[in-house]
Amino acid sequence: MCKSKIDKPYYLNKEDWDVINNHFNGNHKNWTNDKFDDFKDRIRTYLRGQQDNRCCYCKKILKWDKKEVDIEHIIPKAKRPRFTFLNYNLALSCPACNTTKNQDMPLTVPTRQTFPYNSSDYLLIHPHFDHYFQEIEIINDIFIKSKGSKGDWTIEHCDLDTIEKAKDKIFDLMLTKQLNKNGIHSLLLQLTLKITDPNILNTILAIIDDIKQKRYILP
Ligand SMILES: [Zn+2]
Repeated sequence: MCKSKIDKPYYLNKEDWDVINNHFNGNHKNWTNDKFDDFKDRIRTYLRGQQDNRCCYCKKILKWDKKEVDIEHIIPKAKRPRFTFLNYNLALSCPACNTTKNQDMPLTVPTRQTFPYNSSDYLLIHPHFDHYFQEIEIINDIFIKSKGSKGDWTIEHCDLDTIEKAKDKIFDLMLTKQLNKNGIHSLLLQLTLKITDPNILNTILAIIDDIKQKRYILP
């Protein structure tokens, strides 16, 4: 499918360090200061390549407009302002996943103050330290299924198994696999014969019904 993990974080250059040293006073609200716009552009460009231009949590294809892609703080910057510019704490997500995850603390020891560099210190699938597809399966590139506790946490705290997310994935699939409306419809019908997980089956049946009733319009 796509890359399972970020190989290397963004390494800050001299210009990045200068602007951070001059304008970051340790308060996470500084993040929105427009002095950091060039730094954020460089991070976005670099991580799009590292993440195959997909959201680190739901794997949806990221759009190109800046407003459609968030620089996500894996440990929330409001909880640990010191990690606001720490490269291993940054990844790209879609705004939906970022908003849903919000300030949920993803650490096994939530009171920990130093930055954890080990996968085992995190409850979620860490984009730098974990292989996504060891924790989550994406059935036919559409439907999310957990393979263990990290998958469970990430699905729950980012709302990955919603019907809306599945519909977004169907659009991605039409784009990447060049499937048309009829192709999608027959794929969904075939899946109803194969899928045993009741939640996924219900989602598929709901989408088929939405297509029929024109509540979900495919191009
Ligand atoms: Zn997402």
